[in-house]
Amino acid sequence: MGRFFALLLLPILLFGSLVKPFKWNDGESFLTFLERKKLPLSLYYNLDKEDQKLTEDIPYNANCQMVVDDKKFIQQILIPVNDELQLQIFLTPKRRYDIRVVPIVTQEYTETLYVPIQTLPYDDIVKLTGSKNLASEFVKMFKGKVDFRKGFKKGDPIVLVYTQKYRLGKPFSMPEVHGAMVEINGKKVTVYRHADGRFYDEKGAQYEKFLFKIPINNPRITSGFTKSRYHPVLHCYRAHAGVDFGARPGTPILATGDGRISFAGSSRGYGNTIKIRHSNGLISLYAHQKSFRAGIHNGSVVKQGEIIGYVGNSGLSSGPHLHFGMYSGSTAINPLSVMKKTTEGFSGKERKVFLAIRDKMDAKFRKILQQKPVRKPYFDFHETYYVDSQTFKPKPF
Ligand SMILES: [Zn+2]
Repeated sequence: MGRFFALLLLPILLFGSLVKPFKWNDGESFLTFLERKKLPLSLYYNLDKEDQKLTEDIPYNANCQMVVDDKKFIQQILIPVNDELQLQIFLTPKRRYDIRVVPIVTQEYTETLYVPIQTLPYDDIVKLTGSKNLASEFVKMFKGKVDFRKGFKKGDPIVLVYTQKYRLGKPFSMPEVHGAMVEINGKKVTVYRHADGRFYDEKGAQYEKFLFKIPINNPRITSGFTKSRYHPVLHCYRAHAGVDFGARPGTPILATGDGRISFAGSSRGYGNTIKIRHSNGLISLYAHQKSFRAGIHNGSVVKQGEIIGYVGNSGLSSGPHLHFGMYSGSTAINPLSVMKKTTEGFSGKERKVFLAIRDKMDAKFRKILQQKPVRKPYFDFHETYYVDSQTFKPKPF
């Protein structure tokens, strides 16, 4: 209800205006962006702490849109902070700029893909779907299990079952793969996503080898990870790009996994912050620290469980805690989804659930292999869109 009401208040501005897509500059801060566009800096300072912190999580290369009128006057700017929420800068009826957090409108479809390998799986998947994200997810899933550079015959099949979001007619954000199968020289290799969100083989053995540990002893979670949550009291959308652990100031912070420190310094929102790049490509972040451990600096190599710093209250923080983030590229993911599980393999009720998921997926694989559905290569024909300021729905220009 609150959401619908908020949309009604939006000004209708789009007659005679044009949507200009642009990419968020790597490393640009929200304040310098406002300065560069000659927009009032109060747009940033009027945001509350949580939303100010969000601006530091705008993914580099994020696909943004600017709506300008025929006199090149900025009417509206949309900047995604994750795949569900975006910052909207807009003109009020009094012709003043305002800002708020609004949902990103996407269409979501569960799709199946059948690919007879022609060149390389990555290239074949991109050609058919237009999604580099889907192709790299696929490659990641079979890494270490299948060597696609040798051994396959032309025509060997790949089957993928996944959910893909579309925004402005294009694949948007990371697809969620539910299951995948390759057959190489008659040998099948399968991967299934279990109810816990992780990938397993047909026997229920976990795929991911690299596992992280909670970065604090006796953890107490005070705020979880969320991409988009409607706040019933504040009547606004909130996102939280990490997990908060409540702890006393000075509590040691531990490296979640082996890696190399890629940032140790101060940022406005996150205060004293350390980032660690891990060998599987993920980056962990530890914010609001009181201080770093002596000897910890940019480039330091750390081991899992090693003390890197101490819990504090620096930056935009409302009390001592550790804000712990995990990033795949510039995208925040739920850190808890990559933490080490205490149990290995399934038993009891969980095993039953897994077997049901697996058998259902196997039936899908069989059906797709029989039907061999032909998909036309993806063709990207829309260059520019209007974004309706009331519904946020795209309209081809
Ligand atoms: Zn936090």
